[in-house]
Amino acid sequence: MNLKISALEFVNEVKNGNISAEDFVSATIDRIKNIDEKLHAFLQVNLKAVEQASQVDKKIRSGEKVGACFGMPISIKDNICIKHSKTTCASKMLENFVAPYNATVISKLKEQDAVFVGKTNLDEFAMGLTTEFSAYGPSRNPWNTDYVPGGSSGGSAVSVSAFECVASLGSDTGGSVRNPASFCSTIGYKPTYGLISRYGLISYANSIEQIGPITRTVKDTAFLLNILSGLDPNDNTTIDNDKDDYLSGIDSGIEGKKIGLIQEMIEEGVDPDILSITNAAVSKLEGLGAVCEDVSIDMVKYSVASYYTISATEAGSNLARYDNLRYGYDFPVEGFEFNSYISKVRSKFGPEVIRRMILGGFVPSTGHAGKYFLKALKVKNKLTKEVNDVFKKFDYLIAPTVPILPFKIGEKIDDPVALFQIDINTVMSNLTGIPSISVPFALSNGLPVGMQLLAKQNEDKSLLQAARSLETTVQLPEVPI
Ligand code: GLN
Repeated sequence: MNLKISALEFVNEVKNGNISAEDFVSATIDRIKNIDEKLHAFLQVNLKAVEQASQVDKKIRSGEKVGACFGMPISIKDNICIKHSKTTCASKMLENFVAPYNATVISKLKEQDAVFVGKTNLDEFAMGLTTEFSAYGPSRNPWNTDYVPGGSSGGSAVSVSAFECVASLGSDTGGSVRNPASFCSTIGYKPTYGLISRYGLISYANSIEQIGPITRTVKDTAFLLNILSGLDPNDNTTIDNDKDDYLSGIDSGIEGKKIGLIQEMIEEGVDPDILSITNAAVSKLEGLGAVCEDVSIDMVKYSVASYYTISATEAGSNLARYDNLRYGYDFPVEGFEFNSYISKVRSKFGPEVIRRMILGGFVPSTGHAGKYFLKALKVKNKLTKEVNDVFKKFDYLIAPTVPILPFKIGEKIDDPVALFQIDINTVMSNLTGIPSISVPFALSNGLPVGMQLLAKQNEDKSLLQAARSLETTVQLPEVPI
């Protein structure tokens, strides 16, 4: 069974009767069994996946109406709730938490007959960018297993890149879909804020995060957006973009479009290889008829500080509910007074989550908020204004998704500030709500490099057209696993 096909190819093959969903899903589960010990993309595998795929085949045979996914095997980041399944956020705190309901994205995919093959590894509560902060051990990059796969949706990107599923869902608060997509050579999409419902996504910093698809092709992302986007009464921040068919016109090209190369994202600390790869991407786009120019967005240099201040503040508030009483109760209260109980049970969080919560308690506190939290909000507002102004002149922006190459597991784990700084190119789109996508573009020393394209709010459809154009210029070797 050839597992190396795109989502749309899978759908066609099943539709045309060339393969059965059951055989494909069964081969997918076998591959997970064979290679995931090396990669650790999955925290749990769905033992009923093959049976569920066979139910879809049955529907097809009996001429019943079948959903658009036709039994497609998809993996889900383990901070998205699937009813009656464990949802751990890769944390000991939620080790035994079983979700009582489906996230909206899960209900939508189920309606379309997707099959969930398993829950994927992440940095604990999606805080990190290497997947090393998972309480269950790191995932590994399939291009070289000594290297990090990126994060926090590392398991999702690994599973797509290593053909352990056809597509995956991750979440992106400050780059967590695009960063691992870049490190593992997959497409990673962060939609306009509100395009996809967050209902059932366990919150980290809910004012800026989105669920996003990780796929092998831009068209697959468009296909999934058609299913996932739209208003949701359970998430008041959703926007009505239902009328867009993201697949139609996706091949219309970028002739005459204006693209700005963000200078602040290719300056300090950028790997020289990444710089030359970025220039090559710009040349390719120009070759397709786009007009590229340098552009400066001054506030980018404060964006990491602003992002970590805002995200830690929201995390501090969102994670306050984990007191071991409301979720995952496994430790009796007898013999403790309140504070000592809470501090005892909250020490179940890993060091990175604790770091964020200490930060998130301090920066918005009385006497300090003016200096930190309120200033961070000011930067966010100024950045948004600058970005909106830039889009008066440009259709798209471009920058490398990550300014450095994938690095070795363990190499940076003790340097949190260095890790924070790596997010410089991804956090802007979260702070401003604009859509952005990472497209695999090159390899450097056998390690993947992704290019990021960005568009203005609600221009998701147009952004996918630009990404599709860039994708047509790329031919990469197959992952060596
Ligand atoms: N690396 C960033 C952080 O640790 C982004 C994480 C994310 O997008 N979930 O907060």
